[in-house]
Amino acid sequence: MGKVLIIGAGGVGTVVTFKCAENTAVFSEILLASRTKSKCDAIAKAIGGDRVKTAQVDADNVPELVALINSFKPDLVINVALPYQDLHIMDACLETNVSYLDTANYEPLDEAKFQYSWQWDYQERFKAKGLTAILGCGFDPGVTNIFTAYAAKHHFDEIHQLDIIDCNAGDHGKAFATNFNPEINIREVTQKGKYWENGQWIETAPHEIHRPINYPEIGPKESYVIYHEELESLVKNFPTLKRARFWMTFGQEYLTHLRVIQNIGMAGIIPIHYNGVEIVPIQFLKAVLPNPGDLGENYTGWTSIGCRIKGIKDGKEATYYVYNNCSHEVAYKETGTQGVSYTTGVPTMIGAAMFLTGQWKGAGVFNVEEFNPDPFMEELNKWGLPWHELHNIDLEL
Ligand code: NDP
Repeated sequence: MGKVLIIGAGGVGTVVTFKCAENTAVFSEILLASRTKSKCDAIAKAIGGDRVKTAQVDADNVPELVALINSFKPDLVINVALPYQDLHIMDACLETNVSYLDTANYEPLDEAKFQYSWQWDYQERFKAKGLTAILGCGFDPGVTNIFTAYAAKHHFDEIHQLDIIDCNAGDHGKAFATNFNPEINIREVTQKGKYWENGQWIETAPHEIHRPINYPEIGPKESYVIYHEELESLVKNFPTLKRARFWMTFGQEYLTHLRVIQNIGMAGIIPIHYNGVEIVPIQFLKAVLPNPGDLGENYTGWTSIGCRIKGIKDGKEATYYVYNNCSHEVAYKETGTQGVSYTTGVPTMIGAAMFLTGQWKGAGVFNVEEFNPDPFMEELNKWGLPWHELHNIDLEL
């Protein structure tokens, strides 16, 4: 039984808190803290009972975090605020001797650039204190890393090609909305494309490489090679990979909106002066776009995320596809959020449970593929994200 402090009361934080509250065998006490306490209170009320306590915290303020952690004394801090807060929360964990888990790697506010180096730099400090930091435990990164580790462990002697394919075939009825924090999402999808081939990173223009991919129960959807953070740790931890790519589906309407947003400067991250006030265009845009956490009510359709892998088994070429399909409507009925928050928050709870039950352990900073994937895969089936596997099929890619 363990005590968790969850930081961040957005769409993902809602699902993590619901699922931790439901998992009574593992989570004995839950404190949900965020910048806006009323959002924490609303989530606690929706869950009901007195399972979830709430608090206000500015996660960019390390002394404030330290005081909160010292007063609650959790066994683990779950960071589902924004990537900007990662290092501050890790600093507070080191100061208070508490382990750490997150879902997205650090990104500086003033540069749209995400990479693991900043957090991997904490390796020796977490190791020296005997603490565990678990990085990227959502769906992608998270489950996609575990799927890859599971495939490598059970179905291949060597993996050579990895294509992570992420399809959102849902319809939220809005002209334009993002499925998680708009600022982080737009920064991510407007970057240059990048993939791994023959020992080096190949850069592309944004959305340059695309093709239709067939998704189970959904059919063909135009899919685009974009850079996604789990590629960085996966090529490091699976050095036999000759090629690793990440594909995401986008509708034409979404891409048109995105192009306009960029062309008129609304995706900008450099502050501008407006009527004597300093504003960051993309932060202003976030304020006028639909809140991803509120999209669930009318969201229909499915997400489908998985890994298509080629490699060698017993001297022969083998292919493997492992995936989960998640219904936005079912996610909404259960937690009041849409499928993207759900597919992120469920694995976060499972990763926390892996740590608290001692099934994932170690001192230092870890990406999730470095742990045993088997108990995590079992829990996915139990907690609402069942997965399916296909062997020796045409991978299309
Ligand atoms: P939201 O914007 O909905 O929620 C973020 C929450 O963090 C908000 O409640 C916000 O507070 C709070 N917050 C922001 N800054 C601070 C701060 N300084 N101190 C305290 N709280 C703060 O985002 P999502 O729930 O959509 O996403 C959460 C995280 O999950 C992001 O890091 C995102 O990148 C990650 N993610 C990971 C995925 C994966 O598969 N690995 C997929 C999707 C998302 P307030 O309400 O006051 O604004």
